[in-house]
Formats: sequence, C-alpha cells, structure tokens
Amino acid sequence: MKTGNLADKFRVDSGKHFRLKDFDPADTGYWKSKDHAAEALQEGIAKTSDLQDKLYAQNTWALLLIFQAIDAAGKDSAIKHVMSGVNPQGCEVRSFKVPSHEDLQHDFLWRTTRVLPERGHIGIFNRSYYEEVLVVRVHPEFLNNEGIPPSLVTKKIWDERFEDIVCFERHMARSGTVIRKFFLNVSKEEQKKRFFERLEEPEKNWKFSSGDVQERKHWREYHEAYEDMIGNTAKKHAPWYVVPADHKWFTHLVISSVIVDTLESLQLQYPKVDPEKKKELGAARKQLEKE
Ligand code: AMP
Ligand code: MG
Repeated sequence: MKTGNLADKFRVDSGKHFRLKDFDPADTGYWKSKDHAAEALQEGIAKTSDLQDKLYAQNTWALLLIFQAIDAAGKDSAIKHVMSGVNPQGCEVRSFKVPSHEDLQHDFLWRTTRVLPERGHIGIFNRSYYEEVLVVRVHPEFLNNEGIPPSLVTKKIWDERFEDIVCFERHMARSGTVIRKFFLNVSKEEQKKRFFERLEEPEKNWKFSSGDVQERKHWREYHEAYEDMIGNTAKKHAPWYVVPADHKWFTHLVISSVIVDTLESLQLQYPKVDPEKKKELGAARKQLEKE
C-alpha cells in the first residue's frame, strides 16, 4: 500500500495562516482501521531501515526529529514504534525533562545543543528546547529559575525566543542537519480517556503523574502557546507536522511517512569505491584466497 503524500496535509512550513483548530485530532485520512493500515506501517519501517543504513554509510547528512505534545498524546509510543527497525548504532533518543541545576547555568539551547546528532545519525528529541516557549510560557515563574539578567526579560521575550530558535534551526539546516518537528495533536477527550487507562490498568499506573492532571487545567493556555509556537517557527528548513493523535496507529503512519519521504529526498548513496580502494579490495581478496 502506497502512503503517497499522506503527510503533506499535516505539514506546516509557513506560519502565516496557521490555526490549530483547522487540524482534526481524530483524522485518519484514507485509512479506516489499524488493520487496514498494517501493511503500510510495516512498509514504512522496512524503508526507514534501508534508508538509515545509507544515511550512516554516506556520513554527510544528519536527521533531527523533534517530538512535542501535551501529556498522554503518545510521544513515547510513537518513538518506540517508528524507530523499531532502526539500527541503534546510528540513532540516539534524548528526553528532556525539568532542567537540572547545571542546565540552568546556561542558555536555554545549551542542553539540547550538546547532544545533537552527528553526521550519518538520526537524533530523536523527546521534548526539546521548545519547552522554553511551552511549559515556561504557561508557567512564566519558571523563568526566574533561569538566572537571566532581569533587564533582558521583557515582554518581547517569547518573540525573541522564536527568533533565536528559527535562526538556530536555519544554522543547523545549513550545516547538513535536516530537521522535522512533530506536534502530536490529541483531543481533550482522548487525553482524559488515556489518563483513566493509566489509573485503571496496573501496567500503566507508572505512567500516571498527578502533575499531568494539574497541567490539563491549563489546556487552553497550552494550545495557545502551541499555536503561537508553530505559527512562528514553521519554516521550509524546519517544518512542523501537526499529527492527528487520537488514533495511535495513524499517528505512527504519518510520522513514518514523513521520515521516509525526508530520507528519500536526500537521494542517499553508499559511498562510491574509487580505483585506489578497488585495488586494495582486489589485493585483500588475493591474500585471503592464498590462505
Ligand atoms: P515527562 O516527559 O512526562 O517525563 O515529563 C517531563 C516534564 O518536564 C514535563 O512536565 C515537562 O513540561 C517538563 N519540562 C521539560 N522541559 C522543561 C523546561 N525547560 N522547563 C520546565 N519544565 C520542563
Ligand atoms: Mg508525562
């Protein structure tokens, strides 16, 4: 089953007319059920695996995948599923939680910059520097922990953050790091359903944090922050995908198709063997045959 340009519908690369309400969290496109999409899902994983092998061998491009969402939208499960066929040697997943004391001694891009993917690798950020314009924006008192000189904290701070992020991502893109950003768009009803599952199913209890229910009270503020963030940081060099997240299998299909399309667009090739190297291979073969 071809996924075609499945993800185009969810791509935002210019923020001009961006409105979150134009995106339906329950959308499943042409696909009717998980079973209906099963073959396409498998195909995406197999293709990612082949493409990653070339990415690693070619060792020029890096791919950075950023996952942002409110609680229980399915970031962890999307990462687990989509990367299931990937060689761990060329892939690193980094999770960013409440910043440490050391993190707070630096600018807000520091902790993520230290662990950007190297050439040939795929880096996955489970949360990222975008928390600075999400949780910190919804709870501006967190800014006080950052130790920024007070004269630099003005009403313009969020616009300045957007500008810094756009410039940073453009810099990375110009150096060969391809960036794709995913906002997992879950509905308020589905989040509630998933919280209940976490409360009721013993194997999911560990995932529940009462802080999540507190944050749910700020649903509107978070959505305004997400809308403003996507509108201001969606660029051709670093597009956002507003991925429907009420049906996990569809979330996985969209993300997988973005990864495959992105890697295919790089026209990756295994390194060509030059005549010198060919000679070397021939000599090694002869030596082995002599044994
Ligand atoms: P979880 O991913 O569910 O383990 O939760 C991680 C928590 O860390 C979330 O509540 C985030 O909002 C929080 N967090 C991540 N980055 C920041 C940040 N820069 N400042 C404050 N809290 C953060
Ligand atoms: Mg959580």
